[in-house]
Amino acid sequence: MTDILAAAPASSSATSTTYTVPQERKIVTAIPGPKSTELHARRLSVVSSGVTSMLPVYIKKTNGAIVVDVDGNQFIDLGAGIGVTTIGHTESSVVAAAVTQTEDFIHTLFTVTPYEEYIRVAELLAEHTPGDFPKKSVLINSGAEAVENGVKIARKYTGRRAVAVLDHAYHGRTVLTMAMNYKAAPYATGYGPLASDVYHAPSSYPYHDGLNGADAAARTIAYLEKVVGATDLACLVVEPIQGEGGFMVPADGYLPALQSWCTDNGVVMIADEIQSGMGRTGKYFASEHFGWVPDLVLSAKGIAGGFPLAAVTGRAEILDASQPGGLGGTFGGNPVSCAAAVAVFEAIEANNLLAEGERIGATLTAGLTVLKDKYDIIGEIRGRGAMIAIELVQPGTGDTTKAPNAAAVSAISAYAAAHGVLLLTAGTYGSVLRFLPSLALTDALITDALSVIDDAMAAL
Ligand SMILES: *Cc1c(COP(=O)(O)O)cnc(C)c1O
Repeated sequence: MTDILAAAPASSSATSTTYTVPQERKIVTAIPGPKSTELHARRLSVVSSGVTSMLPVYIKKTNGAIVVDVDGNQFIDLGAGIGVTTIGHTESSVVAAAVTQTEDFIHTLFTVTPYEEYIRVAELLAEHTPGDFPKKSVLINSGAEAVENGVKIARKYTGRRAVAVLDHAYHGRTVLTMAMNYKAAPYATGYGPLASDVYHAPSSYPYHDGLNGADAAARTIAYLEKVVGATDLACLVVEPIQGEGGFMVPADGYLPALQSWCTDNGVVMIADEIQSGMGRTGKYFASEHFGWVPDLVLSAKGIAGGFPLAAVTGRAEILDASQPGGLGGTFGGNPVSCAAAVAVFEAIEANNLLAEGERIGATLTAGLTVLKDKYDIIGEIRGRGAMIAIELVQPGTGDTTKAPNAAAVSAISAYAAAHGVLLLTAGTYGSVLRFLPSLALTDALITDALSVIDDAMAAL
């Protein structure tokens, strides 16, 4: 492990200096432990088997970058609840804001009697999403609901029917969004009929397609023009860095080329920043890395530090095309979630958390590069900031077929879990390990987690 230590940049900081849980990995029982095993048995009799858990350890407490289970095991959390606790678990300012708001009022319903916190979140989103033009927002509860609303809003504005997405996309589990995912299984299997007028266009996946941004965009546009027809297309929904698909970073120029085609053809281009947004990648929104200014931005996951909240934000004239009463919902923009979201925005500014995203990206990439030199199953390291992935290939195929190695991904994530590291998998072919930690993850914890992954790879 000394080589990984040496590769790590010297600076190491965290978002907060006081933690309620020591920031260290500690395994004290078998994984899962006896109390988790007991809870799991109870769960099996009352929770739908359609709802699965990556790791059946049941959680008692979290703080910073550490998750503690009911048996007292402490895990380094490299997943942050899939990119939700982006500024750290139970971040003190988020907790304080939520407690205060809970004591003041928990619910009135913005569409009955409104409140300032909703307005403040919309102001902050207008300020921090890409683009220098008047913006408006609608707040809802979940990522999939943001996607659904983005599609509704674009259809209303354009008066058109068709929705386009990219290969390898993931947009949710509702009846519309399951049709927008690339993978039918497990998200859509048996749940049809699927929503109509959803088209899957080729994406930019440089590691496999070898295309530059202009050529990849030309391929996508040719599909949209031939298969869909520009005049029927309401919106193109794109994750700037694809999440579940495997953290594919598009080739330079790809996203701005699609945006300018959309603008020229009256198509609303929507950034699904649900996983990549809210400071995770070293910028507020990942679109900024690519010089992309979307018409609409969808946020959810990390927006409220773990409270359920989502938003559609974008050009005022597009948001205002909807008729009064056409948008909203009972829990949309819940006051406690909004207060937490305001605290998240303030913490990003006050603690300079965009720099923490860059630090984590640099430390992770340096450490993973050492591992890549050591193990030829690491085909590619990619991502931005605290959104980094490695794609694993069959031994010896890194320069040729790049054949996916899902077995190694499963084995490594299982080994990591047993040794106190929560490591998410991803990828259309299950061949990607993704690092999606909170910005509270210290360099020391990164080094420790990478040493476990090093051991896991050696054990293969
Ligand atoms: C998680 C996710 C969604 C769906 O969000 P939910 O809150 O789970 O409904 C949509 N798009 C992307 C890119 C996501 O990562």
